[in-house]
Amino acid sequence: MAEGEKVYCSFCGVEKSPQVPLISGNDGRICESCVTLAHQVVSSWGKTQVSKEMKPQLRTPEAIKKHLDDYVVGQDLAKETLSVAVFNHFLRLLNSTKESLNDDESDVELEKSNVLMVGPSGTGKTLIVRSLAKILGVPFVSADATSLTQAGYVGDDVDSIISRLLEAAEGDVNRAQWGIVYIDEIDKIAKRGGGANGVRDVSGEGVQQALLKLVEGAEQNISKSTKRRENSDEVTIDTRNILFIVGGAFPGLEELISSRVQPKDTSIGFHSKPEEASIELDDLLAAMLPDDLQRFGLIPEFIGRFPIVTFLEELDVEAMLKILTEPKNALVKQYRQLFSYQGRSLEFSEEALTFIAEDAVSRKTGARGLRSILEATLQKVMFEMPSQDGLAGCVVDLRTSGEERELTVKYLSSELETGSGLKIEGGSLASL
Ligand code: ADP
Repeated sequence: MAEGEKVYCSFCGVEKSPQVPLISGNDGRICESCVTLAHQVVSSWGKTQVSKEMKPQLRTPEAIKKHLDDYVVGQDLAKETLSVAVFNHFLRLLNSTKESLNDDESDVELEKSNVLMVGPSGTGKTLIVRSLAKILGVPFVSADATSLTQAGYVGDDVDSIISRLLEAAEGDVNRAQWGIVYIDEIDKIAKRGGGANGVRDVSGEGVQQALLKLVEGAEQNISKSTKRRENSDEVTIDTRNILFIVGGAFPGLEELISSRVQPKDTSIGFHSKPEEASIELDDLLAAMLPDDLQRFGLIPEFIGRFPIVTFLEELDVEAMLKILTEPKNALVKQYRQLFSYQGRSLEFSEEALTFIAEDAVSRKTGARGLRSILEATLQKVMFEMPSQDGLAGCVVDLRTSGEERELTVKYLSSELETGSGLKIEGGSLASL
């Protein structure tokens, strides 16, 4: 540096003077106020790190299941299985010191309890896992297996699952390594070679191989932040302790198992009608062999990494009715909240709720159908209400005339009764 050349603080740009001395580093300088500020920032890092390093609280399987009951209607078998799996998973982690985890010679190596959930769409698979993560206070991400691409592109997709988990853990690598990943539609990537249609789907197998690596435990290099590009800030995440839960509808799987158990009856399982003879889910589960999944299209190595399998039932009218009103964030409660934000009430008659539940069952989209029906029913009132002063609220009711059943929305202030835009004729709902 030339004599007399002006020098500045590399952080705030203040010029060096007798009143503002600077500390010199290899490539820059820093003034006293920036040192103080940096100290404050670093101290606050320390605090958040301590709180984030807190390990998840271990609850008993019963307590976990009880919490799940607040959010998820029915599906007791799946809720129980997952409560135990998650309990064992965290028990294993909490009792493994870092050293013993890395110690190849430790006597008993407990394997991860990754779970495979089989059940029709919209029956609560994602909801159960999401609620579990919430209860346990661990980061959670859900991904769709169909968005994963084959071969050369797979790496990126696998990375993206883990970087989203890191994001959910607010950048804390330790927390991310304890997270839960849910991969939906896993049956859509099944290798079709051994399946009924006989079409070989190599890409499905490629995706399974890529996921397998992740599930088995791989070190993934993830870019930590897009904001700090200059340091190409990468972190390594070890996926060994991440709990993987996969789910899929697996249409045809239950027939496959039940045809072996009861070869003469083909209408068995959770897709069958309630009045038909049906095998209990746990019997179905007990009768299932890894070979069934393999025949369905999952590769043996993949199946082997999911030692725990559970089934979810198709939702009946009674379950739909409960889903509408009972869980902590039940749909009816949600809409009521929306209305109450505007100072309006929203009521449903028993008949209307039963009709909505019955119609959702007939749509075969699980509980997702409930929201579509409610949206369509309340669409008009939600459009009109905000601009209509003096409206106290509305009541959703069912009008029956002969074969025809129709949901009606009654505006409370004006006593104006309007059709909801939905009509049922001969048992099927038609949009007008
Ligand atoms: P999937 O089985 O396809 O993963 P989801 O868990 O995403 O289904 O369910 C879709 C929506 O339906 C959820 O957001 C939830 O509101 C509702 N739902 C589904 N099953 C249940 C259930 N058993 N109890 C309560 N709500 C449910």
